[in-house]
Amino acid sequence: GGQAAPSQFEENNLSEAKRVIAVLSGKGGVGKSLVTGALAIELARRGHTVGILDADITGPSIPKMLGMSGRRAHGLGKLLLPEISTTGIKVMSSNLLLEHETDPVLWRGPVIAGAIKQFWSDTSWGPIDYLLVDMPPGTGDVALTVFQSLPVDGIVVVTSPQDLVSMIVAKAVNMAEKMHVPILGLIENMSYVACPDCGKKIEVFGPSKLDAVADEYGLKVLGRLPIDPTLALACDAGALEEALPQDFLPDALAACEAVPA
Ligand code: ADP
Repeated sequence: GGQAAPSQFEENNLSEAKRVIAVLSGKGGVGKSLVTGALAIELARRGHTVGILDADITGPSIPKMLGMSGRRAHGLGKLLLPEISTTGIKVMSSNLLLEHETDPVLWRGPVIAGAIKQFWSDTSWGPIDYLLVDMPPGTGDVALTVFQSLPVDGIVVVTSPQDLVSMIVAKAVNMAEKMHVPILGLIENMSYVACPDCGKKIEVFGPSKLDAVADEYGLKVLGRLPIDPTLALACDAGALEEALPQDFLPDALAACEAVPA
């Protein structure tokens, strides 16, 4: 990454990520992993080499949505080798290290922090254009671990209309300022439902407050996603790479591509 003082982070000479982008949310279940997966798929479709570091250690959902259920990452001495999806996305996730995918991850805070550090320092990512980080939910100490462990170049914040959007964005802005990492912009997931008959957009949770919040902090809105059962089904079936519509989240993609390498 292009951060000013990379020497504070552990390096391994088998990884060279040109840009590291963290996808953050205020809480779990808002679609942070879906957005991370979708951005990775779209970047890969555009010819970039992409890795996903699944830092959501206790709720890892990246391997499943990319059809890697049941697969195990291999080690080479101290080194971890990422698993590679059908379209070439490299993934490291706690899910790929468990004996059974349904095993709960009951690790305590320091162990989780250690795992995230290792996913950066001990994984052989190779030379990649983008490393996307599926952040642990929230803006607490586990999220902080990520910013202290790897050289994040930009943050994408995912919100949903049920969220206390202004509070979550305020916390994200605070964290980003402390860590000297720019926020690339906001994505609202589950924004609306499109009527299957007439296409009318129904704002199930009431009118979105996102634009007002974005204005308040001088942030960009990078996209709004509807509640779309086909996306949920595709994630469940491990077929997001095949099912993701072309040109998904174009503004978010442009923001990622605008991050200097
Ligand atoms: P998070 O990473 O924030 O915990 P996920 O991305 O894992 O959230 O999403 C939670 C669940 O909601 C998943 O089952 C996912 O497939 C589903 N989901 C997320 N976004 C949408 C959407 N826009 N439409 C339909 N289902 C969605």
